[in-house]
Amino acid sequence: MRTAGKRGSGEAGKDEFLGAQGAPFVHRDSDTSNPLQSQPIEFVGSFPDAGVSVDPPLPEIAFIGRSNVGKSSLLNALVGRPGLARVSGSPGKTTLLNFYRLPQLYLVDLPGYGFARASKSDRAGYRKLVSGYVRGRERLAGIVWLLDIRHAPSREDREMQELLAASERPVLAVFTKADKLTRSATQARVRELAAALGLGLDQVELTSSRSGLGIAELATSITAAAGGRTS
Ligand code: GDP
Repeated sequence: MRTAGKRGSGEAGKDEFLGAQGAPFVHRDSDTSNPLQSQPIEFVGSFPDAGVSVDPPLPEIAFIGRSNVGKSSLLNALVGRPGLARVSGSPGKTTLLNFYRLPQLYLVDLPGYGFARASKSDRAGYRKLVSGYVRGRERLAGIVWLLDIRHAPSREDREMQELLAASERPVLAVFTKADKLTRSATQARVRELAAALGLGLDQVELTSSRSGLGIAELATSITAAAGGRTS
Protein backbone atom coordinates (compact mmCIF):
# COMPACT_ATOMS: atom_id res chain seq x y z
CA MET A 1 0.00 0.00 0.00
CA ARG A 2 1.31 3.44 -0.89
CA THR A 3 1.89 5.69 2.07
CA ALA A 4 3.28 9.17 2.55
CA GLY A 5 6.17 7.72 4.49
CA LYS A 6 9.68 8.26 3.34
CA ARG A 7 11.30 5.61 1.22
CA GLY A 8 13.07 3.09 3.35
CA SER A 9 11.52 4.33 6.58
CA GLY A 10 8.91 1.61 6.81
CA GLU A 11 8.36 -1.91 5.69
CA ALA A 12 8.75 -1.12 2.02
CA GLY A 13 7.23 -4.22 0.51
CA LYS A 14 6.60 -4.62 -3.19
CA ASP A 15 3.03 -3.45 -2.94
CA GLU A 16 3.93 -0.24 -1.09
CA PHE A 17 3.55 1.56 -4.38
CA LEU A 18 0.12 0.23 -5.18
CA GLY A 19 -3.18 1.96 -4.56
CA ALA A 20 -6.03 0.72 -2.44
CA GLN A 21 -7.36 -1.73 -4.97
CA GLY A 22 -4.05 -2.84 -6.41
CA ALA A 23 -4.02 -0.19 -9.15
CA PRO A 24 -1.16 2.32 -9.36
CA PHE A 25 -2.20 5.50 -7.56
CA VAL A 26 -0.25 7.66 -10.01
CA HIS A 27 -1.62 7.31 -13.50
CA ARG A 28 0.52 8.52 -16.38
CA ASP A 29 -0.99 8.53 -19.83
CA SER A 30 -0.95 11.60 -22.02
CA ASP A 31 -4.25 10.67 -23.71
CA THR A 32 -6.17 10.40 -20.46
CA SER A 33 -9.70 11.71 -20.40
CA ASN A 34 -11.11 12.85 -17.07
CA PRO A 35 -13.44 10.17 -15.65
CA LEU A 36 -14.85 12.54 -13.00
CA GLN A 37 -15.76 15.36 -15.36
CA SER A 38 -19.06 14.25 -16.85
CA GLN A 39 -20.59 12.71 -13.75
CA PRO A 40 -23.40 14.00 -11.60
CA ILE A 41 -22.11 15.48 -8.36
CA GLU A 42 -23.99 16.62 -5.31
CA PHE A 43 -22.86 18.55 -2.24
CA VAL A 44 -23.88 16.35 0.70
CA GLY A 45 -23.02 18.68 3.56
CA SER A 46 -20.43 20.07 5.97
CA PHE A 47 -19.80 18.07 9.13
CA PRO A 48 -17.83 18.81 12.31
CA ASP A 49 -17.53 15.13 13.27
CA ALA A 50 -15.05 12.62 11.80
CA GLY A 51 -17.47 9.81 12.57
CA VAL A 52 -20.39 11.18 10.56
CA SER A 53 -22.29 8.52 8.66
CA VAL A 54 -23.19 9.21 5.06
CA ASP A 55 -25.70 7.35 3.00
CA PRO A 56 -25.08 5.43 0.82
CA PRO A 57 -21.73 4.22 2.14
CA LEU A 58 -19.18 4.59 -0.69
CA PRO A 59 -15.38 4.80 -0.86
CA GLU A 60 -14.06 8.21 0.18
CA ILE A 61 -11.15 10.16 -1.30
CA ALA A 62 -9.97 12.98 0.95
CA PHE A 63 -8.15 16.20 0.05
CA ILE A 64 -5.84 17.91 2.48
CA GLY A 65 -3.25 20.69 2.32
CA ARG A 66 -2.11 23.98 3.72
CA SER A 67 -4.57 26.87 3.47
CA ASN A 68 -4.31 28.58 0.08
CA VAL A 69 -2.53 25.62 -1.52
CA GLY A 70 -5.23 25.51 -4.21
CA LYS A 71 -7.46 22.75 -2.81
CA SER A 72 -10.81 24.29 -3.74
CA SER A 73 -9.54 25.12 -7.22
CA LEU A 74 -8.28 21.57 -7.67
CA LEU A 75 -11.59 20.05 -6.57
CA ASN A 76 -13.46 22.29 -8.97
CA ALA A 77 -11.08 21.43 -11.82
CA LEU A 78 -11.32 17.69 -11.14
CA VAL A 79 -15.08 17.63 -11.49
CA GLY A 80 -15.29 20.41 -14.06
CA ARG A 81 -17.54 22.65 -11.92
CA PRO A 82 -15.89 26.03 -11.36
CA GLY A 83 -18.24 27.01 -8.52
CA LEU A 84 -18.48 23.78 -6.55
CA ALA A 85 -15.93 24.35 -3.78
CA ARG A 86 -15.36 27.91 -2.66
CA VAL A 87 -12.17 29.53 -3.94
CA SER A 88 -11.07 32.24 -1.63
CA GLY A 89 -8.31 34.76 -1.11
CA SER A 90 -8.80 34.69 2.68
CA PRO A 91 -7.96 31.12 3.67
CA GLY A 92 -8.33 29.03 6.77
CA LYS A 93 -11.85 29.63 7.97
CA THR A 94 -13.34 26.17 7.67
CA THR A 95 -13.22 23.55 10.40
CA LEU A 96 -15.63 21.21 8.74
CA LEU A 97 -15.48 18.16 6.50
CA ASN A 98 -17.21 18.89 3.21
CA PHE A 99 -18.63 15.84 1.43
CA TYR A 100 -19.36 15.74 -2.30
CA ARG A 101 -21.07 12.68 -3.69
CA LEU A 102 -20.43 11.18 -7.11
CA PRO A 103 -22.12 7.95 -8.22
CA GLN A 104 -19.20 5.74 -7.14
CA LEU A 105 -17.36 7.74 -4.45
CA TYR A 106 -17.30 10.70 -2.10
CA LEU A 107 -14.78 13.50 -2.47
CA VAL A 108 -14.12 14.80 1.03
CA ASP A 109 -12.64 18.27 1.40
CA LEU A 110 -10.75 18.36 4.71
CA PRO A 111 -10.06 21.79 6.23
CA GLY A 112 -6.77 23.44 5.31
CA TYR A 113 -3.97 23.71 7.89
CA GLY A 114 -1.31 26.27 8.70
CA PHE A 115 -3.59 29.26 9.10
CA ALA A 116 -1.40 31.80 10.90
CA ARG A 117 -4.13 33.38 13.00
CA ALA A 118 -5.68 30.15 14.31
CA SER A 119 -5.85 29.99 18.12
CA LYS A 120 -4.40 27.16 20.19
CA SER A 121 -7.83 25.62 20.74
CA ASP A 122 -8.60 25.96 17.01
CA ARG A 123 -5.45 24.00 16.28
CA ALA A 124 -6.30 21.31 18.82
CA GLY A 125 -9.81 21.02 17.36
CA TYR A 126 -8.35 20.81 13.87
CA ARG A 127 -5.96 18.06 14.84
CA LYS A 128 -8.69 16.05 16.53
CA LEU A 129 -10.99 16.31 13.51
CA VAL A 130 -8.40 15.54 10.85
CA SER A 131 -6.52 12.86 12.70
CA GLY A 132 -9.84 11.27 13.72
CA TYR A 133 -10.91 11.20 10.09
CA VAL A 134 -7.59 10.05 8.60
CA ARG A 135 -6.96 7.35 11.17
CA GLY A 136 -10.43 6.10 11.85
CA ARG A 137 -12.53 6.49 8.74
CA GLU A 138 -13.67 3.08 7.59
CA ARG A 139 -14.18 3.77 3.89
CA LEU A 140 -11.26 6.12 3.32
CA ALA A 141 -9.71 4.75 0.11
CA GLY A 142 -7.07 7.39 -0.53
CA ILE A 143 -5.75 10.80 0.50
CA VAL A 144 -4.71 13.49 -1.94
CA TRP A 145 -2.12 15.64 -0.13
CA LEU A 146 -1.54 19.01 -1.76
CA LEU A 147 1.69 21.00 -1.71
CA ASP A 148 2.41 24.26 -3.54
CA ILE A 149 5.18 23.56 -6.08
CA ARG A 150 6.86 26.88 -5.23
CA HIS A 151 7.34 26.37 -1.50
CA ALA A 152 9.55 24.17 0.64
CA PRO A 153 7.53 21.94 2.98
CA SER A 154 6.49 23.89 6.09
CA ARG A 155 6.54 22.60 9.65
CA GLU A 156 2.82 21.92 9.33
CA ASP A 157 3.41 20.02 6.09
CA ARG A 158 5.95 17.86 7.92
CA GLU A 159 3.51 17.21 10.75
CA MET A 160 0.85 16.27 8.24
CA GLN A 161 3.24 13.89 6.52
CA GLU A 162 3.84 12.17 9.87
CA LEU A 163 0.12 11.86 10.45
CA LEU A 164 -0.51 10.52 6.95
CA ALA A 165 2.36 8.05 7.15
CA ALA A 166 1.13 6.81 10.54
CA SER A 167 -2.35 6.29 9.11
CA GLU A 168 -0.97 3.82 6.53
CA ARG A 169 -3.58 4.98 4.04
CA PRO A 170 -2.82 5.26 0.33
CA VAL A 171 -1.56 8.82 -0.19
CA LEU A 172 -0.77 10.73 -3.35
CA ALA A 173 1.29 13.91 -3.01
CA VAL A 174 0.00 16.45 -5.51
CA PHE A 175 2.05 19.53 -6.37
CA THR A 176 -0.21 22.47 -7.24
CA LYS A 177 0.08 25.70 -9.27
CA ALA A 178 2.58 24.34 -11.82
CA ASP A 179 1.63 27.20 -14.16
CA LYS A 180 3.35 29.66 -11.80
CA LEU A 181 6.78 28.38 -12.91
CA THR A 182 8.43 27.93 -16.29
CA ARG A 183 8.46 24.40 -17.65
CA SER A 184 12.16 23.86 -16.94
CA ALA A 185 11.97 25.37 -13.44
CA THR A 186 8.96 23.15 -12.76
CA GLN A 187 10.82 19.92 -13.52
CA ALA A 188 13.67 20.94 -11.22
CA ARG A 189 11.23 21.88 -8.45
CA VAL A 190 9.39 18.57 -8.73
CA ARG A 191 12.65 16.73 -8.12
CA GLU A 192 13.67 19.05 -5.27
CA LEU A 193 10.35 18.93 -3.51
CA ALA A 194 9.98 15.17 -3.88
CA ALA A 195 13.51 14.76 -2.49
CA ALA A 196 12.77 17.14 0.41
CA LEU A 197 9.77 14.98 1.29
CA GLY A 198 11.66 11.73 0.84
CA LEU A 199 9.23 10.66 -1.89
CA GLY A 200 9.95 9.01 -5.23
CA LEU A 201 8.81 10.62 -8.48
CA ASP A 202 6.23 7.86 -8.79
CA GLN A 203 4.63 9.07 -5.55
CA VAL A 204 3.92 12.63 -6.74
CA GLU A 205 1.67 14.21 -9.33
CA LEU A 206 2.16 17.66 -10.87
CA THR A 207 -0.97 19.73 -11.47
CA SER A 208 -2.28 23.14 -12.38
CA SER A 209 -5.95 23.94 -11.92
CA ARG A 210 -5.41 26.94 -14.16
CA SER A 211 -3.87 25.16 -17.18
CA GLY A 212 -5.44 21.75 -16.52
CA LEU A 213 -2.05 20.02 -16.32
CA GLY A 214 -2.30 16.66 -14.57
CA ILE A 215 -6.00 17.00 -13.74
CA ALA A 216 -7.28 14.13 -15.89
CA GLU A 217 -4.44 11.90 -14.65
CA LEU A 218 -5.29 12.73 -11.05
CA ALA A 219 -8.98 12.04 -11.69
CA THR A 220 -8.01 8.66 -13.14
CA SER A 221 -5.83 7.84 -10.13
CA ILE A 222 -8.67 8.80 -7.80
CA THR A 223 -11.19 6.65 -9.64
CA ALA A 224 -8.80 3.69 -9.53
CA ALA A 225 -8.05 4.17 -5.82
CA ALA A 226 -11.79 4.18 -5.12
CA GLY A 227 -12.05 0.86 -6.91
CA GLY A 228 -13.77 2.09 -10.03
CA ARG A 229 -13.02 1.65 -13.68
CA THR A 230 -10.57 4.15 -15.13
CA SER A 231 -11.91 4.36 -18.65
P1 GDP B 1 -7.49 26.61 -0.85
O1 GDP B 1 -7.43 27.63 0.26
O2 GDP B 1 -6.45 25.55 -0.68
O3 GDP B 1 -8.87 26.04 -1.10
O4 GDP B 1 -7.02 27.39 -2.19
P2 GDP B 1 -7.90 28.08 -3.32
O5 GDP B 1 -8.35 27.06 -4.34
O6 GDP B 1 -8.94 28.96 -2.69
O7 GDP B 1 -6.77 28.94 -4.05
C1 GDP B 1 -6.00 29.90 -3.34
C2 GDP B 1 -5.48 30.91 -4.35
O8 GDP B 1 -4.59 30.27 -5.27
C3 GDP B 1 -6.59 31.56 -5.20
O9 GDP B 1 -6.24 32.90 -5.43
C4 GDP B 1 -6.55 30.75 -6.49
O10 GDP B 1 -7.02 31.49 -7.60
C5 GDP B 1 -5.07 30.43 -6.61
N1 GDP B 1 -4.85 29.17 -7.33
C6 GDP B 1 -5.38 27.97 -7.04
N2 GDP B 1 -4.94 27.04 -7.92
C7 GDP B 1 -4.14 27.67 -8.80
C8 GDP B 1 -3.39 27.24 -9.95
O11 GDP B 1 -3.37 26.06 -10.36
N3 GDP B 1 -2.66 28.21 -10.60
C9 GDP B 1 -2.63 29.49 -10.19
N4 GDP B 1 -1.87 30.34 -10.88
N5 GDP B 1 -3.32 29.93 -9.11
C10 GDP B 1 -4.07 29.03 -8.43
